[in-house]
Amino acid sequence: MPQKIANGKVVGFTYTLKDDQGQTVDQSQPQQPFEYLHGHQNIVSGLEKQLDGMEEGEERKVEVAPEEGYGVFDESLVFRVPAANFPQDVDLKPGMQFQSEGPQGAMVVTVTEVQDDVVTVDGNHPLAGQRLHFDVKIDSIREATEQELQHGHVHAHGHDH
Ligand code: ZN
Repeated sequence: MPQKIANGKVVGFTYTLKDDQGQTVDQSQPQQPFEYLHGHQNIVSGLEKQLDGMEEGEERKVEVAPEEGYGVFDESLVFRVPAANFPQDVDLKPGMQFQSEGPQGAMVVTVTEVQDDVVTVDGNHPLAGQRLHFDVKIDSIREATEQELQHGHVHAHGHDH
């Protein structure tokens, strides 16, 4: 019987992630499958759900809606702030990311617009509001160790901590 992906299995897979425009926004390292512990929210929920039951060697196109991916776009996370609030030695440009204190603690914001003395920053995940288009191939499936199950994540190559 071939192994199937189920809760408590460590899964290694290779993937390419494209956005709605067909641009590749992320992919696994060449020859180095990404490993995660299935059933422990290590990866976006929509992807985890659709990988369930797949077998070693299987390939699939997986589409994930924003709600089960990086969230819907939240307008309330877009702020206009005075440029004076930023480090003065930085030449502010769209695309730059900063760590900021938000209502729920630290968050990463991306500069989306710089206009004179006002900077627009966006605290949404860069892929918020996007459908995710994954091409996945399952490379390996194994039982998780006792310790991995306790910690809720993979200990790659015998790594312990
Ligand atoms: Zn651990």
